[in-house]
Amino acid sequence: MDRIIFATGNEGKMREIRMILEDLGVPIISMKEAGIFTTVEENGSSFEENAALKARAVMEQTGGIVLADDSGLEIDWLDGAPGIYSARFMGEETSYDIKNAALIEKLAGVPDEKRTARFVCAIACALPDGRILTSRGVMEGRIGYEIRGKNGFGYDPIFYLPEYGCTSAEISPEQKNELSHRGKALRSMKEKLEYILKEN
Ligand code: IMP
Repeated sequence: MDRIIFATGNEGKMREIRMILEDLGVPIISMKEAGIFTTVEENGSSFEENAALKARAVMEQTGGIVLADDSGLEIDWLDGAPGIYSARFMGEETSYDIKNAALIEKLAGVPDEKRTARFVCAIACALPDGRILTSRGVMEGRIGYEIRGKNGFGYDPIFYLPEYGCTSAEISPEQKNELSHRGKALRSMKEKLEYILKEN
């Protein structure tokens, strides 16, 4: 296997992914680097289904091993919303300052113990023989009372980590890699890939 494509256009994710998968000994390249510019409709009903849709579509175009991820924020008080709609919540073009403020508002008056939430990430790997492998990682926390921190992206400034006393936008990128849903899902996928690469 000469390369693995990761089906994302997000450079921040690519850096994180390369850092974790580096010692597989196979170059991990982005869709852009592979010259692929398809957009896949994420119409699955779970993170795993959406990740698999993306990975399979790109694998069918390239014939090689393709990885893809799907992630989002589940808030228990909102019955798991925004969940698989996290990127689309209130519109893709709406700023996260506005989305985050709206979520804090929806939880107005909700006590600490009912503000539980988690970031979820599913990774799918589409193999040329048609098999799909998946892995999942979760980071538990609570929705905070205010927007705090400048690191990370998306919903990080309202995602409070009680054991650290700060939000996931206030920890370093290295710390976030260690704790994050994406880091955990990637490390678990890495183990599966090591096994697959031995087969080939
Ligand atoms: P996707 O996995 O690229 O489809 O993105 C899902 C959406 O979930 C992102 O646009 C963010 O809004 C949110 N999200 C996923 N992971 C994180 C994270 O680590 N921090 C903050 N927001 C996240």
